[in-house]
Amino acid sequence: MSRRGVRAAPSPQPHATAAAAEATPIELRAPPSRAPERGLVPADCGIEGWPGEPRVQAELWRVAAAYLPDGRRAIGAYTQGLMDLGATTCTRAKPDCNACPVAADCVARCDGRVDELPYPRPRRALPRREVTVLLLTRDGDVLLEQRPPVGVWSGLWSLPELARDADVALHVAARFNAATDALRLLPPLTHTFTHFALTMHPVRVPVTHWPTTAGARGVEWFARDSAIAAAVPAPIRRLLRAHC
Ligand code: SF4
Repeated sequence: MSRRGVRAAPSPQPHATAAAAEATPIELRAPPSRAPERGLVPADCGIEGWPGEPRVQAELWRVAAAYLPDGRRAIGAYTQGLMDLGATTCTRAKPDCNACPVAADCVARCDGRVDELPYPRPRRALPRREVTVLLLTRDGDVLLEQRPPVGVWSGLWSLPELARDADVALHVAARFNAATDALRLLPPLTHTFTHFALTMHPVRVPVTHWPTTAGARGVEWFARDSAIAAAVPAPIRRLLRAHC
């Protein structure tokens, strides 16, 4: 049966070596999607969908089971051939179709979809968080705040931040009792962590009067270059470079 037949026929066969192709069913110890051939089977048989999906896994099992060789001796050649081809020829990054023994009826190759199959892992929609960050500036200096010892960017210097819906002028007055000039909204910057995406909305706040009592613990004025050189997170360093 050709790989094209896989989509309509009872059970197709993945890419197997020539030895494996002569074998017949026996038992399946692991689904092909867990082995190096996880890209090979979907490509060769034209299986749609990301191999990690349960539906696609079931299809891979069906395909693999249908083409298992008959006889315990042949199973070794079959599985070894499958893994070898997946590891050396039909690699995910660079399939070597010219050297592939099943190229003649590989669905991906015949349909010009080698770059498309197998489907990549779908991207997760990350939760999003938005905060306002303050670029408080005074005589060329910028105010940094040391972050708490736990949590995101723990212990690093950063820009003071506040809830997105908070009033910046009121917040600065209430927290620092500082006098400020006109605020300026700056372009937002999004930084993606592994588990969420953080969009920072910087606001430049020129300080015209800074009371001596405003120096709360963990807050310090830095000269621009010192701030950039300090232990700050990379996205904060970008904001400092761009706007200070
Ligand atoms: S012809 Fe290319 S895409 Fe198809 S199984 Fe062989 S290496 Fe993979």
